[in-house]
Amino acid sequence: MIIYPQDEESINRKILSILENATRKSKAKRYKCFIPDCNEGAINSHSQSKNSLKNISENGHIITSISKSFYQYIRNPFHEIGINDASCFKGFCPQHDREYFNKADNIDVNSLNGKVLDELAFRTFAYEIRTKEYILEECRVVKKQVDRKLGNSRLIREKLEWYFANGVGVKNFLAVTYPFYMKKWEPFYKNKNCGIVKHIVFSFDKNIGLSTSTSIDLNPIIEEESIELQNLMCPRPFAFLNIVPREDLTIAALSYFPEQEKLVNELIKKSKSLVQIIFNYCEEILFKPSFFDSFPEDMKKEIKRGLSGWAFWKEIDFSTFSELSSFVLTSPQYIN
Ligand SMILES: [Zn+2]
Repeated sequence: MIIYPQDEESINRKILSILENATRKSKAKRYKCFIPDCNEGAINSHSQSKNSLKNISENGHIITSISKSFYQYIRNPFHEIGINDASCFKGFCPQHDREYFNKADNIDVNSLNGKVLDELAFRTFAYEIRTKEYILEECRVVKKQVDRKLGNSRLIREKLEWYFANGVGVKNFLAVTYPFYMKKWEPFYKNKNCGIVKHIVFSFDKNIGLSTSTSIDLNPIIEEESIELQNLMCPRPFAFLNIVPREDLTIAALSYFPEQEKLVNELIKKSKSLVQIIFNYCEEILFKPSFFDSFPEDMKKEIKRGLSGWAFWKEIDFSTFSELSSFVLTSPQYIN
């Protein structure tokens, strides 16, 4: 039987429950190991190493900027999460998880080399792709549910328009950008060759209280006039940012495919401080709870605004924010 909702509030409630149900279903699905030709199921991997998470945790908890649902994101995306659940994704089978990321999980200044940084970047890439696969699966479930439960209500279709539009973007990314870069990674996942991506590393002599492992969309760096040259058939330019906090130091590694070098250098030049990149270009940031709590309310609002950059991108100036602005991007180390 098709139930037609009576009023806007009940429609919103139904949409919310459909979206949350879809998120649950999408994450519960079996996903194959990310390594091509491996048919094993993927277990929950951490996109960020447990060591990093421990270094910013308090009583086993951290604050994450990743919301459980779109509606939570609108209200307040930041919430506390246990380190066992933070940054988890179904990425690799147990064997490949051990085989490829053993070194990346124990990175420190003495082990900074191309191989370890390639591992970090590849895992960040896998995380980005899998997250998009989650979204696509979610869209599929939502569409099915809407058709089945809510009939052809115009209001519902309109309300979900943004959602399906996002799904089209994600689908396109998986069809065009993913295979383009996956091909480039082939020597890494087939023969463990490194040198696929280049790395610029900045070190800071304290634990800066946050961590991230994220893909950065470089489109906003491109001059506006040339954006029109980008079409849906072009792979999107992106880089990877890994902020790795250690007990008394922090490593920030920007990794990128050689053809993106110019854009990455522009990003560094215009950003000047690390915080400018993190809060404007990263979607998932993990904070030490007491550090996050120390931010003034207006700063939290600005960070939330920065996180929503994917929707209406405009760079926010974080240069006056607390001690974070003192982490200036100087003395880069170039590692291939
Ligand atoms: Zn595998």
